Amino acid sequence: MLLGRNVSFDEPLARYTSLRVGGPADAVAAPQSREQLVELCKLCRDRALPLLVLGNGFNTLVRDGGVRGVVLRLHALRGLRRDDAGLVEAEAGVTHSTLTRFCAAEGLAGLEFAVGIPGTVGGWLRMNAGVPGREMKDVVQRVAWLDASACAFVEADASELGWSYRHVDLPEDAVIVAGTFRTHPDDPDAIRARMQQGMEKRRATQPVDQPSCGSVFVNPPGDHAGRLIEAAGLKGRRQGAARISELHANFIITEGEARAADVLALIETAVEAVRDRFGVALETEVRIVGEDE
Ligand SMILES: Cc1cc2nc3c(=O)[nH]c(=O)nc-3n(C[C@H](O)[C@H](O)[C@H](O)COP(=O)(O)OP(=O)(O)OC[C@H]3O[C@@H](n4cnc5c(N)ncnc54)[C@H](O)[C@@H]3O)c2cc1C
Repeated sequence: MLLGRNVSFDEPLARYTSLRVGGPADAVAAPQSREQLVELCKLCRDRALPLLVLGNGFNTLVRDGGVRGVVLRLHALRGLRRDDAGLVEAEAGVTHSTLTRFCAAEGLAGLEFAVGIPGTVGGWLRMNAGVPGREMKDVVQRVAWLDASACAFVEADASELGWSYRHVDLPEDAVIVAGTFRTHPDDPDAIRARMQQGMEKRRATQPVDQPSCGSVFVNPPGDHAGRLIEAAGLKGRRQGAARISELHANFIITEGEARAADVLALIETAVEAVRDRFGVALETEVRIVGEDE
């Protein structure tokens, strides 16, 4: 058997996403190496099984009917190394905290801005994750991915890829396996102090300790989705066991009993209210996947 114990069937995805909602995947597979990933890719391609990659699910909303096909988790791909020039290569399953802590310990500066962007290297790159003024595209040197049609690895300089706000021009079915980041030397304590500062600022302005997916909507040009939703009077609006955060209106928080349908209804409420009040079309940043129940 290709994956042995590293595959499970009819697996609830709520446990794999930070919103803690959503139905089951037909299968969740966790290849233990790049070779196993290629074998799995071939198996899915030959049987026409859809493949969906999930990082740490910090930007993913799974509908209540779940996902047909195979959900791929790359947590076993967690190689992490640096060279003398300060290039840091991290495999897709490395988490934001492991990578930023590694950089701090090695005295490598440049990734502090991302300390509060929870997820994996795969999710960071796929989303071109960032903060105002700094995104992955500003620090990434190379990206390696699996071309899921050919089931073969491809690598490119980041400068050859098109990057824009929360987007990178990679094929839709690309499975990112690693990224190489540029850093520069600095004092580990100074790096840690900047990371700490960034986290404190977040804690004051975002509900970081409650289940959410971060910003639900991308900011429309020249404005902030959170400001518009707040101005539409929706802070604190509830639907079932989900609500629009009182602290930051671009965040939707869930509680134990919440369903994806609750979150989707709040998304629709916000889209309609902002469109009707301000004539602005909000677009989701969160990746919505799966089927309705
Ligand atoms: C409290 C909080 C704060 C946040 N703040 C920010 C912020 O400041 N800035 C920001 O940009 N985001 C922010 N986010 C959103 C989230 O942290 C980022 O989008 C992050 O990059 C998600 O990583 P992930 O691994 O969890 O991705 P997932 O949610 O697992 O996946 C996101 C997308 O990437 C795809 N993907 C994941 N891994 C791979 C891979 N290996 N290959 C190909 N595709 C892949 C998935 O299919 C999906 O489409 C925040 C979220 C939370 C909960």
